Amino acid sequence: MSNSLNRRNWIKSSAVMAGGLAFLSGTTSKLVAAPIAKKINFFEHESEFLSEAQVAAMNPPEMKARLNANENPFGPSPAAKKAIEGAVDDSFRYPFSNTRVLMGKIATHEGVTQQNIFMDAGSTPILEAAGMFYGKNGAEIISGETSYDDLPSHAARLGSKWVKVPMTADFKLDLDAIEAKVTSNTGLVYICNPNNPTATVVDTEKLKAFCDRVSKKTMVFVDEAYIDYMPDPQAATMIDMVKKGSNIIVARTFSKLYGFAGMRCGYIIAQPETIAIISKYTPGAMSLNALTVAGAAAAYQETEFLQDALKKTLASKEFLYATLKKEGYDYIPSSANFVLFPIKMDGKQFSSEMNKRGVGIRVWKMNGKDYCRISIGRMDEMQAFADAFKQLS
Ligand code: PLP
Repeated sequence: MSNSLNRRNWIKSSAVMAGGLAFLSGTTSKLVAAPIAKKINFFEHESEFLSEAQVAAMNPPEMKARLNANENPFGPSPAAKKAIEGAVDDSFRYPFSNTRVLMGKIATHEGVTQQNIFMDAGSTPILEAAGMFYGKNGAEIISGETSYDDLPSHAARLGSKWVKVPMTADFKLDLDAIEAKVTSNTGLVYICNPNNPTATVVDTEKLKAFCDRVSKKTMVFVDEAYIDYMPDPQAATMIDMVKKGSNIIVARTFSKLYGFAGMRCGYIIAQPETIAIISKYTPGAMSLNALTVAGAAAAYQETEFLQDALKKTLASKEFLYATLKKEGYDYIPSSANFVLFPIKMDGKQFSSEMNKRGVGIRVWKMNGKDYCRISIGRMDEMQAFADAFKQLS
């Protein structure tokens, strides 16, 4: 085919495309025209998600501690692994019945019905589905600054207005200031509790009262990805508010304390009408795989394993606190499996120097200051961090 023909075909298809675009609705063309935040690209964070063996192969002796994705290196539990192995033979079947078993266990534990539960391959698809729906038509999504940004940034990429509310002086979500920002154009308020990356929590009673008031005006999304690290998750959860009929969504994940980040399993608890909406924007349980579901059902509320993982996390965290204190650094006391602390070096430089020493961490800028977020790992990983950190501090 000659170049001119190629060009003609190209011009023809461009014209068809342009014609097609003219038919797009006002909203869709606005969505296409106004991408304001960059999509989190899975492969951009590839080194955080590869297996230990793959990372070791890519970075032979250097990578000693991967403390950048808030994973739980103490999981999954032996019972989960056994259930996963046992599920392989039956994995030619869709996992409908085991998904029901898992949902049944969650429903019983939380005192809700299965109609209140919506599962997906991790909580990410649900966060993004909520961002898509509640941020439609340029609606505002309110979040703390600095907080987990997947939901609001996804919504913003699709045309919603992202309203960021500064944190309190002690790095907590400022519930009063967030409430004051709610307008008739607010589509959703995103609350992450414990908050990522600050690892701070808000007062439970205050949050309940907030959910009660604000959910009468707009949707409140409470992301409880790290609630299993709190001393009494049942006392701190907002699931009670769903039970009382509030218009809120509570998100949970198996990626953190359960150690299932690579297996992908998460869910929300919400009103059935809310679930009917969310399910239009993500495949939900159809994305779950049989091995994950079998493992999650075996692992759910497995007290002994969870307590053991918590104990190890706490020991590593105490070691980290001691290391930071010894080197003359402050830190924000953490209610999760990661710690944020101010650094005395440019963030990018710090991250690159730590990487050179085989330690992966993440950095943030808050109010013009550089901070490091370090996930809590095994003791050998915390030691690797300590060794590298001493050389830089
Ligand atoms: N919510 C918060 C606060 C997170 O920190 C994360 C991941 O780090 C997620 C949700 C997403 O978790 P997943 O999709 O693995 O369930």
